[in-house]
Amino acid sequence: MSRSRKGGADGSGPLRLSGTAVRRADRPVEIVLFSHGQQEVGRLRFRVCPSCRAGRILDLWIDEAWRRRGLGREAVHGLLSLHPGHRWTTTPQSREGRAFFAAMSQEMPTCFPCGAPLCAHLRGWPRRLAHRVLGRWLGP
Ligand SMILES: [Zn+2]
Repeated sequence: MSRSRKGGADGSGPLRLSGTAVRRADRPVEIVLFSHGQQEVGRLRFRVCPSCRAGRILDLWIDEAWRRRGLGREAVHGLLSLHPGHRWTTTPQSREGRAFFAAMSQEMPTCFPCGAPLCAHLRGWPRRLAHRVLGRWLGP
């Protein structure tokens, strides 16, 4: 994914949104936002499982100077356009993050509740391993 729009925080150029296609559910993927000068101004990190049509937003960071300009919203819209029809959860959020995702849930056809991964594929290998080992000790 690569999109541009006019008007960076310094008002001097376009903002480029770039992303990477997902290949494995247990590996995080990022959508990175760059200013016209190739400065990184935002990052949305997530995991997605195409088989289960589920995803998990791990974190969303926007540079302080670029906040309140709709970049987080643009990153989430980019995420949903890459993975339409998926269900999502997020990791525990700050108060600001909870307000952001509550607003996103109002304007989009999906919700972003804070919660556990929606399928085992989204756990990542350390959590899958822990689950496997602890599952043996604790029983089924
Ligand atoms: Zn899955």
